Amino acid sequence: MSGQGSSQPRPHMLSPSAWNRYETCPRMYWLSRQGLPRKAGMAASLGTAVHASVEDLLQFDISAFGDDEAGWLPLEGERLLKARWEEEKKSFMETPRRPQWKEEKWKEALRHQRGAIRMLLEHVGIRALDSERITGALWRRIQKLAIAVEGELKTVDGRLMGRLDLLMADVDENGAMVGWLVADLKTGRVPQGELKTEVNRQLRMYRDILLANNPNAPPVRTQGWYTSDSSKWSAHGENVLEDAYEAWQATKPSPMPLDPIIGDTSCGGFCDWKAWCPHWWNWRAQNKTLHKDDFSDAVVLLLDYNASNGSATLELCEPADASGRAIPTGIQQPARFDARGKEALDELLASGHQGPMYLGSVMTHGRSWRIGHWCDVLAWNPLPDGVEFHREPR
Ligand code: SF4
Repeated sequence: MSGQGSSQPRPHMLSPSAWNRYETCPRMYWLSRQGLPRKAGMAASLGTAVHASVEDLLQFDISAFGDDEAGWLPLEGERLLKARWEEEKKSFMETPRRPQWKEEKWKEALRHQRGAIRMLLEHVGIRALDSERITGALWRRIQKLAIAVEGELKTVDGRLMGRLDLLMADVDENGAMVGWLVADLKTGRVPQGELKTEVNRQLRMYRDILLANNPNAPPVRTQGWYTSDSSKWSAHGENVLEDAYEAWQATKPSPMPLDPIIGDTSCGGFCDWKAWCPHWWNWRAQNKTLHKDDFSDAVVLLLDYNASNGSATLELCEPADASGRAIPTGIQQPARFDARGKEALDELLASGHQGPMYLGSVMTHGRSWRIGHWCDVLAWNPLPDGVEFHREPR
């Protein structure tokens, strides 16, 4: 930290998603904590809107609907989802680093919400009931079983935390509570065969914080609820808190970059911080996979640009050394920037940027590269190993 500015540093806390990021690549985790521009994403926004709307449905006052009254839930569900959708859209559009908002995903969001409602019905033993037929009495019954909705879970020492989607009472056929169910709504891809390691760890961390804070808790089980096909996946395994505290220790704020884990599952997968990391680039250059995929990341110079139609000539660069200093190769590459990709380039140029740029996920097949709405266009600014980084005061 620079120590400048008046705000008090927040105490260090570790969430399951930060822990997962650290496990994937400590450098990725470290970069995510340096106040660098965050990237908005459609899948994340859709997920947040669906989550929030289901939580709203579980909490909203339905006293106006009689016990036998049906037909209201689909309308209310859609109304609540729409409000959350608009909220998400606003914050997405206010994020400078963003792809294109896809309004056509609205129908998908509605489907996910319906999937979540189906799983809540199953929790009270009701299958294949059209949401049109959900009555006031039935929804009140479900609402009563929700012990906590979107609650913050934190260990008493404040070091480990997580956002709990749903804590539901498990009841027997007579309606007596027999345990607690931690349910985490997932709008992502349904697991193949078993939960992914990181999801399993996340769910167990919720379970174990809950148990640590409630020594007299009834039996607790924990499940990922996948809204796309309404499937429920249980997490099993040892208590994770000891490992989580170790990770907390290892992730304490430090101006010195943490070590990278370089490779296919980290750099080749989902990393939002490549514009600030020299390692993926050296790795690709060394194993000769630079610009070889249909969608590739690249560091380039902009030689020529027609701002009216987005056509450009790029010069490809290669890493000069481990720090990621760029050297031009003399290889020229025609390209076209369009939609959000073009806007991002125009914004970067308007900020006065000169020198190498990082382009993320460029479509490289065809004579001309295409930098479209899904691409990152950022200044190339790799933070080298072994050099402390102090962020600029805002
Ligand atoms: S590019 Fe690779 S090494 Fe660098 S932060 Fe991302 S995952 Fe880690």
